[in-house]
Amino acid sequence: MQYSKLFPKTLRQAPSRAESTNHQFLVRGGFIHQEMAGVYTYLPLGWKVLNKISDIIREEMNAIDGQELLMSALHPGGNWKKTGRFYSFDVLFKLKGVGDSDIVLGPTHEEIIYPLVAEFVWSYKDLPLYLYQIQMKFRNEARAKAGLLRGREFLMKDLYSFHTSDNDRDEYYKKVREAYLKIFKRINLPVVKTKASGGSFSDLSEEFQVLTPSGEDVVFVCENCQTAINREVVEEKVCSECGGQLKEEKSIEVGNIFPLKPSFAQTFGLSFTDADGEKRIVSAGCYGLGVSRTMGAVVEVFSDAKGIIWPEAVAPFQVHLVGLDLEQKSIANEVEKTYKLLLAEGVEVLFDDRVDVSAGEKFADADLIGIPYRVVISKKSGEKLEIKKRSEKETRFLTLDELIKIVLT
Ligand code: ATP
Ligand code: MG
Repeated sequence: MQYSKLFPKTLRQAPSRAESTNHQFLVRGGFIHQEMAGVYTYLPLGWKVLNKISDIIREEMNAIDGQELLMSALHPGGNWKKTGRFYSFDVLFKLKGVGDSDIVLGPTHEEIIYPLVAEFVWSYKDLPLYLYQIQMKFRNEARAKAGLLRGREFLMKDLYSFHTSDNDRDEYYKKVREAYLKIFKRINLPVVKTKASGGSFSDLSEEFQVLTPSGEDVVFVCENCQTAINREVVEEKVCSECGGQLKEEKSIEVGNIFPLKPSFAQTFGLSFTDADGEKRIVSAGCYGLGVSRTMGAVVEVFSDAKGIIWPEAVAPFQVHLVGLDLEQKSIANEVEKTYKLLLAEGVEVLFDDRVDVSAGEKFADADLIGIPYRVVISKKSGEKLEIKKRSEKETRFLTLDELIKIVLT
């Protein structure tokens, strides 16, 4: 991608209402545009990052036999009245449809997926079943100030699993837990598994929390074994696993997994006939992961005073090719050639091809946007390329082949 053509360009200053690090850098870098509090447009750069995160999640969900679907964002209000959550879900967006009908903008999808599955699942032979989606969710959050960390419209992956027994569900729950740990490892985002109350009735209910001072949650982390407990459930200040001391930390909840109450299945008549011909209620679990919140959390954790430092797995491009002295034809040709060779090797390149912009500005933009490898070609370059990792201070001189090898492995 030629930077001269990329929409839009970086901003020198973040809007005054942008308080958090992720909000400031993502707006200034040209990743997102705020439409109103908690509501953002994903610009081309930001959309690339969001899709990289989504693709990692998708691969790990498919690896545990999840089937992807896309449910409706508009929900019939009647379904929410059946569960009672039309009246009790505090951040619900309610609309009026044709003929004064009640419509809900989906904040989560139990009210859609239960009746859907109940229509097609009859027998133990239809189970287990694992369905997930990656979709915009809507919640009328009271405070939506921390950029992508708390949106009123935000991207979530939600997986729902359906089983013939709680035991089977609990086994699958453990697989999802491992899949989540893999996802965050691939993104390179450190998380702690946290025992959560979540209004849940079961022991198996965990959050995945990113420890950072900018988080809104508080967790207690064992200094000894790294087990964490949510503020809402902590009773004593010692670890229940090993007796170690608990330390209070601020954190961001990026994921939450828990068994679903049988009342959903009862309400929507989700039952099956077992091998003995007996009718039984389906057991289920729900597994949420905040995709856009994860993007915000990555920026909170991986940034410095100059801008973002994207982990390679979710960076919008791998190489930021900075051409300097481009008014000299021979250099312009050299940079262009390098750009094409990198593309031919399958390297994702953002090429700063602007002629009327100073070296200082180009470097400042590269630091702000945060692509892992900055490659400079100028009249001072000899045979080798001047390479600097965004996460490191030193500059190295490498051949194109050496660069390609490093970037692609
Ligand atoms: P919170 O306690 O932060 O309000 P929650 O526990 O209500 O979140 P869940 O219903 O568990 O959220 O949703 C699953 C995941 O979706 C959360 O773990 C989080 O990563 C993400 N998420 C929830 N609310 C928001 C939001 N307003 N903006 C961005 N992501 C969100
Ligand atoms: Mg939660």
